[in-house]
Amino acid sequence: STPGGPKAREEKIVVTVRLRPLNKREQLAKDQVSWECIDDHTIVYKPPPHERVTQPASFTFDKVFGPACLTETVYDGVKNVALSALNGINATIFAYGQTSSGKTYTMRGITEKAVNDIYNHIMNTPERDFTIRISGLEIYNENVKDLLNSDSGRSLKLLDDPEKGTVVEKLVEETANGSQHLRQLINICEAQRQVGETALNDTSSRSHQIIRLTIESTLRENSDCVRSFVASLNFVDLAGSERASQTHADGARLREGCHINLSLMTLTTVIRKLSVGKRSGHIPYRDSKLTRILQHSLGGNARTAIICTLSPALSHCEQSRNTLFFATRAK
Ligand code: ADP
Ligand code: MG
Repeated sequence: STPGGPKAREEKIVVTVRLRPLNKREQLAKDQVSWECIDDHTIVYKPPPHERVTQPASFTFDKVFGPACLTETVYDGVKNVALSALNGINATIFAYGQTSSGKTYTMRGITEKAVNDIYNHIMNTPERDFTIRISGLEIYNENVKDLLNSDSGRSLKLLDDPEKGTVVEKLVEETANGSQHLRQLINICEAQRQVGETALNDTSSRSHQIIRLTIESTLRENSDCVRSFVASLNFVDLAGSERASQTHADGARLREGCHINLSLMTLTTVIRKLSVGKRSGHIPYRDSKLTRILQHSLGGNARTAIICTLSPALSHCEQSRNTLFFATRAK
């Protein structure tokens, strides 16, 4: 299908699931593998012996990727969403899942594959001139930090631009001169996020990272007709999904500072409403920083993919099931 254009139909959100292998810690603790991908679309719960299963045990998605799958394969499942940005269609790819389920691992790989793919495409499209700009930001406690400017103040302001929609004031945007340079800039963003992580214990489980590429191109059709395209492609590594579950909003957790993450809660509501489609009524984009920043790259004519990451461990079974419920509602 050709996305975009006035007759663009409502695109479904692409929802995939990635189940990682047991990690060292889980192996040492003799944790059990409790989920299995039985085919390309189905993931099932494998209860320990004698457990009576009272919850849904089988879930189906556009694609599920088992522990042996490489990130390259996972990328193939979201490739069309990423490449749509080359043709002027805004796009967003999310990693959603509990802390330690593989969001950062997956998103880094996906970003790298997408960058390679984009530059291959550019090489094969000599009739167009491309420009790629990058910005990176982190949302922590509804504060927005610039990942390309370590001197940025406490929180960047969001402004409403009549033409561009929500813009982040003073956010640094660099023009990449080639794939090598773009990779360097992405590395700077990742390193900057790490700095925050060591300074403030465990920020990565509470913060959202957005790497935004803005891809612009012009096509000379004849001497006096130039078509131009511009779109954003967002790679979003979300806060741990345990921050979105209401069951953890009890007093003890609140005192520990494990409170509900406004941006994550709002995002799940927005995604749920988008997946319902036109009938869903008001979509609360404006209720959080994350959804305001992503508004024009979510819903409408934009394309969205969500990669839900899961630990296979029995000890994480509740959170994994919550992730699969979220993924089911997003379809
Ligand atoms: P999150 O960002 O969701 O908290 P990470 O991406 O940091 O989780 O992953 C947690 C650990 O598991 C890391 O050590 C990472 O290297 C490893 N890991 C995650 N996904 C995979 C995978 N698919 N294959 C192998 N190791 C993985
Ligand atoms: Mg992470």
